[in-house]
Amino acid sequence: MSFSSLGLSPSFLKTLSEQGYTEPYPIQEKAIPAILEGKDILAIAQTGSGKTASFALPILEKIQHEEPLKNRHVSVLVLVPTRELAAQVNEVFNLLADNLPRRINILAVYGGVSINPQMIRLQGVQILIATPGRLLELVDSKAVHLSDVKVLVLDEADKMLNLGFRDEMTRILSFLPSKKQNLLFSATLSEEVTHIEGLLLKDPVVIKIADDSEGNIELITQSAYHVSEERKGPLLRYLIKQNNLKQVLVFTSSVFKADAVANKLRNNGIDASAIHSKKSQGARQEALSKFKSGKLQVMVATDLMARGIDIKFLPCVVNYELPRSPKDYIHRIGRTGRAENAGMAISLISPEEEHHFKIIQKKMGKKVEINESESIDLHGY
Ligand code: AMP
Repeated sequence: MSFSSLGLSPSFLKTLSEQGYTEPYPIQEKAIPAILEGKDILAIAQTGSGKTASFALPILEKIQHEEPLKNRHVSVLVLVPTRELAAQVNEVFNLLADNLPRRINILAVYGGVSINPQMIRLQGVQILIATPGRLLELVDSKAVHLSDVKVLVLDEADKMLNLGFRDEMTRILSFLPSKKQNLLFSATLSEEVTHIEGLLLKDPVVIKIADDSEGNIELITQSAYHVSEERKGPLLRYLIKQNNLKQVLVFTSSVFKADAVANKLRNNGIDASAIHSKKSQGARQEALSKFKSGKLQVMVATDLMARGIDIKFLPCVVNYELPRSPKDYIHRIGRTGRAENAGMAISLISPEEEHHFKIIQKKMGKKVEINESESIDLHGY
């Protein structure tokens, strides 16, 4: 199947081939024609499946023939759980709109940065990508109106609900017209997602992409080390130096730990930055773009960052501490081995975490080889 058979204009085909999208991913094959037909969609798909382009392309196809609405009314609203995802979705929309004959006005709004520039820029916006909290602030101050929205996308709806955005989402839905096209994307079909689905979707086309994380897991070489808490730092540095790892994403379970690990790495001559919710948006964005472009060797992140981060060919993920849920483990290691590339995931397991790691392996249905680290000489690391 080719993109040209999905009903997209030739201007997109040029962009897609420039971007190396040679053929549509399964979710794109299914979603693009259905969205172009005006159908509601329920897609169970993870980050990495190509879901962003699966809604961005048909939305752009439809909107390119429309005039911007007047008086701060937007036509398309994409709700996302985190600032990083907002920035990423914005990037995909802009990239795909690049060769269109007419400029489409796209804006991402999220908290953590000043609201005034966003208010000013909202004039004439056609596609608005927003996190729930900031969107409500903008609606409340009449900087944007949602009553003419024609297409609503809920991206990573499960994450949005997990992060406690339920009330905000309900309020946002109350501002939207009932007659519109609704596109719901979620990695899992939780009870809460099913509730939203019931409220929102009319006779949806259901797309279930075979759990991508499982597919990916086969591509990921997983290993682990038994190691005491005190030796985790030196072992991490040893692994980075010995294996000459150039681009490593390290996960910790707290903001405090993320900062501490990044500091220690830097003190030992390894270029590292922490990225977590307590950092300013500017600092997060800067670390992420340096890391993406290969200018930052190690990025230390908390779980909040795990899902949204999309980096092509990330070779290595390290679990400095295990996440609480096995699902988060899969999401974390899923940052590697994406888009059909092999990756490596290493977990550092303290004695307290051993039992939990057994549960994770059982849930994942895969055994991970565990190495002992006692005999490794960590002097000088
Ligand atoms: P997403 O699931 O939207 O986060 O996309 C995952 C990654 O796949 C992104 O880096 C996209 O640029 C890439 N991608 C999406 N669709 C295609 C495609 N048809 N061919 C090649 N790469 C793609």
